[in-house]
Order: sequence, then C-alpha cells, then structure tokens
Amino acid sequence: MHELLIDTFGRVIRPDDKRRDPMWTLVQGVIGARAKTVVSNDNTDRLLSEYGTWEKVAEADLGALTRTLQTATFPAMAAERLQACMQEIVRQRGSATLDHLEELDTAEAMAWLERLPGVARKISAGVMNTSRFNRKALVLDSGHRRVVQRMGLVPAKADTARAYDALMPVLPSEWTAADVDEHHLLGKRLAQTICRPKRPDCGSCPVRSDCEFA
Ligand code: SF4
Repeated sequence: MHELLIDTFGRVIRPDDKRRDPMWTLVQGVIGARAKTVVSNDNTDRLLSEYGTWEKVAEADLGALTRTLQTATFPAMAAERLQACMQEIVRQRGSATLDHLEELDTAEAMAWLERLPGVARKISAGVMNTSRFNRKALVLDSGHRRVVQRMGLVPAKADTARAYDALMPVLPSEWTAADVDEHHLLGKRLAQTICRPKRPDCGSCPVRSDCEFA
C-alpha cells in the first residue's frame, strides 16, 4: 500500500523544521477539531504571539481566548478544551511542559496525554510522531481512518484507538518515525483526493486491488 501510494502521489516528507515543540503540537491538535490544518496552525501561532506562554493561556480570560480562536470551527469549545488541558498540565507538572514524556516509552507517554482533557488517540499520536519527539506512532485522522476501514484493514466501525491498535503491530518493523509519518500523510492524501467520503473514485485508486469496498 505504501509503495503504491508513493507511486501515485510521490514522496511526502515532513521537513525537520516543521517538527514543532511538543506543546505547540498538542495545542494545535486540541483546538483543531474539524478545522483545516492551516487554520489550526495559524491559530496556534497566534495564541503564542498574543499570550507569550502556554501558562498565560491557562490563566487567560475565556472570552478573550475564544475571540483569539474565532477562526476555529468551534471557537468556544476550542477555547474551553484548550484552557482545561493547559490547566491540567500546569496542575500536574508545575508548568506547561511535556519534557517529562521524553523519559517514558511511547505507549506510556500516549496514555499520559490521553488522560488530559480534550486529548484522544489522534492527538496523542500526533504529539509523539510529528513533533520533535519524532517517535513511531501512526496518526489517523478521519480521512485516513475511512480509507483503512473501507479497505478492510481494520473493522468497519473501528474508532481511532482501535484502528491504531490494529495497525501499529503490522507496520514494517524497519520503518522509522519519518516513514510512519509519511504513511499517514499519504493516507490522508488518498482520502482527500480519491477515497472521498461520498462517491469514492475506486476506478482511479492505486490500492483498489487490496480493497474490500472496491
Ligand atoms: S478502492 Fe475505493 S474505497 Fe478502496 S481505498 Fe480506493 S477509493 Fe477508497
């Protein structure tokens, strides 16, 4: 599947300078529900330039925070979730940092993240894989998950955590964290262009011979 996707879309490699601080990546995920990546990236940068630190975000006036996030898909919900998440990190760690996760293995670090308000498997995998942590963890957004469900690689109704648990053990063992990241970016590309939610274009799909739906 990976090779067929590369044949179709070319290499999709995240440059090292796009690997952000883990706190930035966490915030980008928490405020990013149903929003375009570029909008969530801009909002995360704006939060940092307006407030200066994530501790200040934890203490901010909720109305002001909501206004800062006005281009999010659900600004009030994003502000509330973000503040609850920042406050919980400060409560547990004394400051808004994820540095302690360096000491944990990836599964333990993800379990810690998933106990924070507003954080589920997609976000915890994103913090592990796409930030400077650069760990092996497959990010599954709704599009990529739709692809693997239709293909029959995971059960049709698998949620993200279940799909992650099914797929992680069968990724090639020699893959690096960057390979895992590229696989996600390719799966996302397939979901956006060919395996769309309605009327997937199976006739043009590079993985149709392995797909149960097709
Ligand atoms: S063959 Fe069709 S359903 Fe299967 S992954 Fe491709 S576009 Fe999606």
